[in-house]
Amino acid sequence: MLQLAERLSRISEPQTIKMAKLSRELKAQGIDIVDLSIGEPDFDTPVHIRDAAKKAIDEGFTHYTPVAGYPEVKKAVTVKLQRDNGLTYTPEQIVVSTGAKQSIANAVLSIINPGDEVIIPTPYWVTYSELVKLCQGEVKFVACGIENDYKITPAQLEAAITPKTRMFMFSSPCNPTGSVYSREELEALAAVFAKHPQIYILSDEIYEYINYIGAHTSIASFGDLKERTVIINGLSKGFAMTGWRLGYLAAPLHIAKAADKIQSQFTSATCSITQKAAVAALTGPLDTANDMVAEFRNRRAFVYNAMKEIKGLVVNEPAGAFYMFPDVSAFFGKTAEGMEVNNADDLCMYLLHKANVSLVTGAAFGAPNCLRMSYASSMEKLTEGLKRLKAGLEKLQ
Ligand code: PMP
Repeated sequence: MLQLAERLSRISEPQTIKMAKLSRELKAQGIDIVDLSIGEPDFDTPVHIRDAAKKAIDEGFTHYTPVAGYPEVKKAVTVKLQRDNGLTYTPEQIVVSTGAKQSIANAVLSIINPGDEVIIPTPYWVTYSELVKLCQGEVKFVACGIENDYKITPAQLEAAITPKTRMFMFSSPCNPTGSVYSREELEALAAVFAKHPQIYILSDEIYEYINYIGAHTSIASFGDLKERTVIINGLSKGFAMTGWRLGYLAAPLHIAKAADKIQSQFTSATCSITQKAAVAALTGPLDTANDMVAEFRNRRAFVYNAMKEIKGLVVNEPAGAFYMFPDVSAFFGKTAEGMEVNNADDLCMYLLHKANVSLVTGAAFGAPNCLRMSYASSMEKLTEGLKRLKAGLEKLQ
């Protein structure tokens, strides 16, 4: 039989995408599933952004663009980075891609050699480890517990660093935990990196605007870290534009050039129409984004309070993004409706099939005692989903 390439055996399909697929299949069979597995805002893209896209089509922006994006998009990104983050970049340091996911892939492919170690604090976003493995790098997970709001401490970071460490990857606000690193916490991590100049930092800031506790800080702001930090951001979350596919990286020039080179062989560039819409998003008003965040804030309070009341769940209060990440280990070893629950994967399947609520196993994020629930869903769905979750968990004996 013809064989596939060996690299396929190194990586897996994201559980997030698997669960969404499974939920869709069950729904297609007529089963009423409350799907809280998906990580995307349930809002429409703001009107001024949609209008910019329509205008782009009518004005003929339908051809190939430069690989790293139209000059005006890259300029708009630099203006945004100055305005929101106080960071000065030139347009040559920006590479616009088909979603932040591709931006991360470009960065990892540009930097990681076989055998390089990459430190990833867990819980982490599913794709990080898989991209490192694709490049034959070694993932070094550092387990971060709920007692420190799932954040890595400077001592943990220091202990994980070896002469082979090439990169540190994290998100703040974090998917899946909703944790946000404070300015002081980032500064303390930066002090560790200052002692280890061989390490690149990939700072995934895609949830920047979805922050309930105040201003966002980028780790690139400290000392000379901007010289070795790759900032990842995009439009998917803050502007409700997941389907439009636009992300970007801001990086030292040599990394940006490398990312441009890699992208030139993969996708050429992201969609021309999306890029024109991105200029409207990046330079336009943030009021629709702010309204969306205000609504997420209400839902967060509702979901957090409801989950705290469910016996057996241990929850942190998320400071950003739109996920709850309860520890569910109290339910392991229990049974209901003929299904035995021995881990988060089992619990996830039990809840899907027996309670008809779809969540994602924490194992996908390197936290096998947890489940992830997205609250980027209507209050009505959240109310029903929580009701099903509670009833399903109560049945487990
Ligand atoms: N980083 C994180 C932490 C995410 O949660 C996501 C989307 N789920 C991405 C990156 C990728 O976003 P995009 O849609 O821009 O590819």
